[in-house]
Amino acid sequence: MLYIARYVITQNDKREILEDAALLVRGTVIEDIGKAAELKVKYPDEPIENLGNAVIMPGLINAHTHIPMSFLRGYSDDKALMDWLYKDIFPAEAKLTPEIVELATTLSCAELLRFGCTAFYDMYMLEKAVFKAADRVGIRAVLGESVSSFFPSLDAKNIDEFFESFDANDELMKNHSLIRHAINPHAIYTTETAILQRCRQVADEKKIRFGIHMCETKTETTGSLEKNKQRPIAYCDSIGILNENTTLIHMVDINADDIATVAARGCATVHNPASNMKLASGVAPIQEQLDAGIAVGLGTDGPASNNAQNMFREMYLAALLQKLDKQDPLQMPVQTVLDMATRGSATALGWANEIGSLEKGKAADFCALSLDESNMQPVHNVLSNVVYSATGMENIITVVAGKVLYKNGTYTTIDYANILKEAMNLNDWLKNN
Ligand SMILES: [Zn+2]
Repeated sequence: MLYIARYVITQNDKREILEDAALLVRGTVIEDIGKAAELKVKYPDEPIENLGNAVIMPGLINAHTHIPMSFLRGYSDDKALMDWLYKDIFPAEAKLTPEIVELATTLSCAELLRFGCTAFYDMYMLEKAVFKAADRVGIRAVLGESVSSFFPSLDAKNIDEFFESFDANDELMKNHSLIRHAINPHAIYTTETAILQRCRQVADEKKIRFGIHMCETKTETTGSLEKNKQRPIAYCDSIGILNENTTLIHMVDINADDIATVAARGCATVHNPASNMKLASGVAPIQEQLDAGIAVGLGTDGPASNNAQNMFREMYLAALLQKLDKQDPLQMPVQTVLDMATRGSATALGWANEIGSLEKGKAADFCALSLDESNMQPVHNVLSNVVYSATGMENIITVVAGKVLYKNGTYTTIDYANILKEAMNLNDWLKNN
């Protein structure tokens, strides 16, 4: 299929933006990209999908979420972190079943696809149910069970049982073309050293991603200084869990030494501006991480602390938050923000060789925003419209690995009417269970 549009944002190494351009998609990959007129001549028999006055761009990549938490969207807001977690979130999560996780994951996937997101990195519980939903939807994902020192959990009575169920999930995911397995210890303040090191060992043996919440708040730093006599990053480095297959989520309360260590170990990091603002965690220093050569991705965090899974909204917030924090409008220009949501996030998923840009040989993962909408005109700088003007509702098509999963209000792999009906019952389910 030849996809044609007014603009194609490639996000290639030169950050080229093509006008009156086309993407040739065959199977799961992009086989060619260039001027529409030239590609039509080069491939005269190719079927054409002309998206018209639109901008095709790489599918956005949500580098950190707890995807089934859409079942708690709006359930508990405007509370202090510990009250929010211990009084509202943890008791509600204790009621979870695989069926609810599957439903909530599908609901979240519908939201991701609606807003042009083609891949996500999840950290939650009952990950087998997340897998079932993501597999059925056909979205790209890195899925990893969260683990801490607290047992029994929803998945296991003890740590050995956790690793047994982890191995079973690994069998399920290891040869999947769109879903990869990961291991995600929750955080250093919830997970003892021996478990962190065992997770690292498993990740290295299986060559999978290791993700962990890191340096989210000042309280976390204070706790680590008391318990470990070191700041969180120094502690993690001393126990040998930081390497190039590591994704550090949040990185709010960090200093120059922390950044130097993370850069030296080759870890990727993820910025979650909405969650950091809503939970009043603080502002992550982003330019400092980028200057040190760290790949910084962008994520929404879970739908209970955001409360959306909308990466357009996240880009907008990321740009504005850094400018305000530094009192400097030059911070976070549009190209930097889009880089985080595409190329940076692709690295945070450990998948940068296939996704994050639209280039020959790369995966055909993309979305397209209509420029006919009133908030998208005129177009002086298409990147500016994408980052500052778009809400994500302008998205008209979402394609993952060459397959159309969403187009003009219709999902091809989700029975949305049914999901909506079930989602509307979640409020009663929570009250009655
Ligand atoms: Zn999180």
